[in-house]
Amino acid sequence: AVQEFDKVVDSVCPFCGVGCQTKVAVKDNRIVQVDGRDGYANENRLCVKGRFGFDYAMSPERLTRPLIRRDDAPKTGDLDMRGVDPLTIFREATWEEAMARAAGGLKSILDRDGGQALAGFGSAKGSNEEAYLFQKLVRQGFDTNNVDHCTRLCHASSVAALMEGVGSGAVSAPFNDAMKADCIVVIGARPTTNHPVAATYFKQAAKRGKKLIVIDPRGQDLMRHATHSLRFRAGSDVAMLNAMINVIIEEKLYDEQYIQANVAGFEALREKVKDFTPEAMAEVCGIPAEMLRDVARTYATAERSIIFWGMGISQHTHGTDNSRCLIALALITGHIGRPGTGLHPLRGQNNVQGASDAGLIPMYYPDYKSVENVDIRASYENFWGQTLDPKRGLTVVEIIDAIHDGEIKGMYVMGENPAMSDPDQIHARDALAKLEHLVVQDIFLTETAWHADVVLPASAHAEKLGTFTNTNRQVQIGRPALDLPGDARQDWELIVELAQRLGLDWNYGHVSEVYTEMASVMPSLKHISWERVEREESVIYPADGPDVPGNEIIFTTSFPTEDGRGLIVPADLLPPDEVPDEEYPLVLTTGRLLEHWHTGAMTRRAGVLDAIEPQGIAAMNPREIGRRGLRQGDMIAVETRRGTVEAILRADREVADGMVFMPFCFNESPANRLTNPMLDPFGKIPEFKYCAARIATL
Ligand code: SF4
Repeated sequence: AVQEFDKVVDSVCPFCGVGCQTKVAVKDNRIVQVDGRDGYANENRLCVKGRFGFDYAMSPERLTRPLIRRDDAPKTGDLDMRGVDPLTIFREATWEEAMARAAGGLKSILDRDGGQALAGFGSAKGSNEEAYLFQKLVRQGFDTNNVDHCTRLCHASSVAALMEGVGSGAVSAPFNDAMKADCIVVIGARPTTNHPVAATYFKQAAKRGKKLIVIDPRGQDLMRHATHSLRFRAGSDVAMLNAMINVIIEEKLYDEQYIQANVAGFEALREKVKDFTPEAMAEVCGIPAEMLRDVARTYATAERSIIFWGMGISQHTHGTDNSRCLIALALITGHIGRPGTGLHPLRGQNNVQGASDAGLIPMYYPDYKSVENVDIRASYENFWGQTLDPKRGLTVVEIIDAIHDGEIKGMYVMGENPAMSDPDQIHARDALAKLEHLVVQDIFLTETAWHADVVLPASAHAEKLGTFTNTNRQVQIGRPALDLPGDARQDWELIVELAQRLGLDWNYGHVSEVYTEMASVMPSLKHISWERVEREESVIYPADGPDVPGNEIIFTTSFPTEDGRGLIVPADLLPPDEVPDEEYPLVLTTGRLLEHWHTGAMTRRAGVLDAIEPQGIAAMNPREIGRRGLRQGDMIAVETRRGTVEAILRADREVADGMVFMPFCFNESPANRLTNPMLDPFGKIPEFKYCAARIATL
């Protein structure tokens, strides 16, 4: 009962991009219960993470004092601090000493080598205000555009294709619009695992008789609700999608009127897909030609069709091409710009949409304004009162490579964990160890913080006030439920103090002032004031007036491209970068589990969640396990050309023959030690979903 609590705070879930609204009940400065609210995105629903994953914020492992690395502490890429007393590597420091050391190290590199020797990784877990301040600090204080965050590792290729094709990286319709659609395509996404509350809308739509087409090389729970389930051959996305486009064009199922009025590039697409007949592609993608035809017809002829996709599409060296195919499907059929239609890349972290919108990416200022555009840069130079770096900055994996090349020497990392999330982990950790000066601001001593020179204890989601933008473009307010532990401080205040210590004249009295400055440079937030978000709890952008609800559907009349038309860019068939061979005969693919979120920094410290999924696993099909004379529960070594990881073997019928699946959240079995860092040339996203591997028994 409510009266048993000291307070109940209305907030939002700290985990996935669905952005469920929550009621957080607090007793004695401890969260004791989390319930769903009747929010637009969740209608009282929560998944296991949102409901039971709150106690990480009260973990005894929280950082509560600033730390400075001891002079004699080892600094190597293979440093493993599991079970090690942190005070053997670091010593506690006062805030004055820690901030002076943090800022001083960055400043001396800046003065000696210039801004290109510095970089920053911000966080999609932080608020919009923190993301805005972080990118401003890097651009203004570090004098470089070398600023990025985990969007590079999840939907960078989707955003690259969307910017090119429809002029905006945001979703065209909310996921709730699945309820208005006649046909729902879910491809390369596992929403019951990664966006569980969004998945409830897909299931409800299927229950009401809507067509649900689920396309994934691995089997998945949502297929139990689907009218069509396609388990295609991993890496053959373009072959399969071009075959569907071929059917739509050859059978004249496209919307000629819509194309005439709104689309460029159709003839080039027609020419490109001529040879991608379903019969020719069936062998390549492992789906019978008749099924490809059926799915293409179902999608094209439905009155309203909508496409959702995830990292199975984006995390490939041909990730941008995969998204281009999905955009082409929507554009040639006119399934965009109307309720129940559209393109929706399901965003992963709770604020990856907002952090990207706020400019936490190396090529764009807030609202995707190019740093290379002279006029736009001049406007920011005028606003911030100094000259700015004219070149686009380096992306996440490029920054790691630049550290190895000796070009980047100092970094500021806030709330990101590249030591777990980056591909080819040994290479990434070696880079962190090689830095002359690394400042890490976080709530735990993460695997990245192990390598830091200075560690700044910061605020958990449940301790901060700020706005967060979910996958639907809903700007929502998160409110503090807990006091900060020990000497920990608010992230936004730490960014501001670092800026001041670098000589910038920054003065913000309240986080709302940061929002107001940010909104003043972001047309997308026009008519969405701080007060409005506070009052309404959730506002979809763009909104046409201060009292007018935001637009759920965009691209209703035109696209925000130069000529107002959507552009089709035909995709070529390219193989994954590293295919199986005699030495490494299996395909390794990585992903997430329902109970653990991303690198596990939070959920592995959440008691209930870690109790449900307590240890590092590698999953294979039972047939494959039997063929090799293995048994579920065996400890195996998974090996690729980049390393070896030990994990417990799990039998899983959803994993295809010839494939190994590993989640990347377990630091005792770190999957990214094995993954291929090769990048998609457009979105600069690594190929997490496919590399050659083998297994050995231990
Ligand atoms: Fe949180 Fe996502 Fe689960 Fe909702 S679906 S409770 S936002 S993790």
